[in-house]
Amino acid sequence: MTRPEPLPPGSTIGILGGGQLGRMSAMAAARLGYRAHVYAPDADSPGMQVAAARTVAPYEDVAALHRFAAEVDVVTFEFENVPAATLAALEGRVPCRPGLGVLAIGQDRVREKRFLAEAGVPVAPWAEVGSEAELHAAVARIGLPAVLKTTRMGYDGRGQAVLRTPEDIAPAYARLEPKPLILEAFVPFAGEVSAIAARGADGTVVVYDAVENHHRHHILDLSFAPARVPEATAAAARENVRRVAEALDLVGIVALEMFLLADGTLLGNEIAPRPHNSGHWTMDACLCGQFEQHVRAVVGLPLGPATRHADSVMRNLVGPEGLAAWPEMVAAPQVVAHWYGKEEARAGRKLGHANLLLSLGKISSLEKGWRPGGW
Ligand code: AMP
Repeated sequence: MTRPEPLPPGSTIGILGGGQLGRMSAMAAARLGYRAHVYAPDADSPGMQVAAARTVAPYEDVAALHRFAAEVDVVTFEFENVPAATLAALEGRVPCRPGLGVLAIGQDRVREKRFLAEAGVPVAPWAEVGSEAELHAAVARIGLPAVLKTTRMGYDGRGQAVLRTPEDIAPAYARLEPKPLILEAFVPFAGEVSAIAARGADGTVVVYDAVENHHRHHILDLSFAPARVPEATAAAARENVRRVAEALDLVGIVALEMFLLADGTLLGNEIAPRPHNSGHWTMDACLCGQFEQHVRAVVGLPLGPATRHADSVMRNLVGPEGLAAWPEMVAAPQVVAHWYGKEEARAGRKLGHANLLLSLGKISSLEKGWRPGGW
């Protein structure tokens, strides 16, 4: 593939979504000399605060989308629940990276599972569930326990139910909305691993080291980079996300979340075609972090090196506890702290994160339950 001409510095990147991922993409864009025009429904969102230009409008406002398309040189998105119709209204008017096809796969668990299998990434047994009768048939095939999920709009554990006994089937089916649903075999995983790849406009792929993720109340709490797994497992995780980036024909960045089984097997769970929370460590522990990589891909610049120059533990600062921890984070040596500027410190809200930097190789000597001292 030949390399297309990159957009020159001073060009404008349109970002759909005003959350922290858009904010950090806009900040990376500014460092490389690009302007970010953030489009989101909320005026005081984290992304809006650092944008060079703003459109505050609903995602369904076609006239506003057309004006936005006329004012930007390329469009990207920072969260995958941007309505497909929004990107459809922009495509054809302005390059969209990634495009509608990639967005659509990330929005639908059935398409995602099918895509992963086709890309050569192993997944747990699953079945599409269009009716309660289909759910009974799926349980008969897959067995219990199993996890019933909405196919769309689920994140951080929302929109899902674990089925343990036959009595759980009917109430879970009735409760979960929107339909249709997907049933997945329950994976008795030993850990969760994710990996991130970027793919440039010329088809070059770079892959970051796989990381090990630990959750609290269904929200990512800590990421250990690199993952404390055998090298063969880490290599398989990187290979899986490389396959995903290539099979998506992506221009941009993609994260793959995987379940790690006790025997070292990895099963693909979710893809996110955007910068990802489990890649925040790359901002400070890599020569070129995921947000800069995202910007480079979107404007057509050569990708940067994903080389890691330190081991790192990323901690999310969530809700009121995150707010309370902030003074300690900014004072801690070897910690680079990031705050997103959200107005309210509500429970469960990601307010910032802190990257602890450790010398190379240090992570593997930490015990399994280790937490950064004091935090
Ligand atoms: P998800 O929204 O698919 O990322 O799921 C959120 C969390 O629910 C995961 O991080 C797991 O802890 C759990 N989970 C999801 N799917 C399964 C599964 N098939 N088996 C076991 N646990 C699951």
